[in-house]
Amino acid sequence: MGIDLGITSLLTTSDGEKVANPKNLQRLHKKLRLAQKSLGRKPNKKSNNYQKARLKVAKIHAKIKDSRLDYTHKLTTQLIRENQTIVVEDLAVKNMVKNHKLARAISDANWGELVRQLEYKADWYGRELIKIDRYFPSSKRCSNCGHVMETLPLNIREWDCPECGSHHDRDINASVNILRMGTRGVR
Ligand SMILES: [Zn+2]
Repeated sequence: MGIDLGITSLLTTSDGEKVANPKNLQRLHKKLRLAQKSLGRKPNKKSNNYQKARLKVAKIHAKIKDSRLDYTHKLTTQLIRENQTIVVEDLAVKNMVKNHKLARAISDANWGELVRQLEYKADWYGRELIKIDRYFPSSKRCSNCGHVMETLPLNIREWDCPECGSHHDRDINASVNILRMGTRGVR
């Protein structure tokens, strides 16, 4: 199975399944913002109120981290159990996080941790995890005829191939290409 890691969906599989980012994280981020504001309104760092507010912020941070990790564990265990071979892109997460608008969504997606878990769980369960070159044009390539688009802006979620006329969901098309690239190479 090929997996495309993304923002709109946390991941999309070559079977056409889409997995969303965990909803409870949005709620926790909102709570965190409020707690940070409240902390900012308490200038006296020696006061009890300041210490209470600081502790609250720290607790929410910890909860976000736990919740992310828990979700990633459930997901990777399920993926590894259900598939003999998984192909993913080798991502440079650190470079992508430099874009601040995408940074939170990407860190919620926890891509680096997700791939790391897939790797060691593949070992545990005797599965095969294949990582492919992240410069492979998985999104821009038509999985039906192999035509490669010159550009395909991120906001384009569906497109038609000008060569063969196939209609593509951006992420499903990418995950099918990733699977092919990993399992038999692309002509
Ligand atoms: Zn095509």
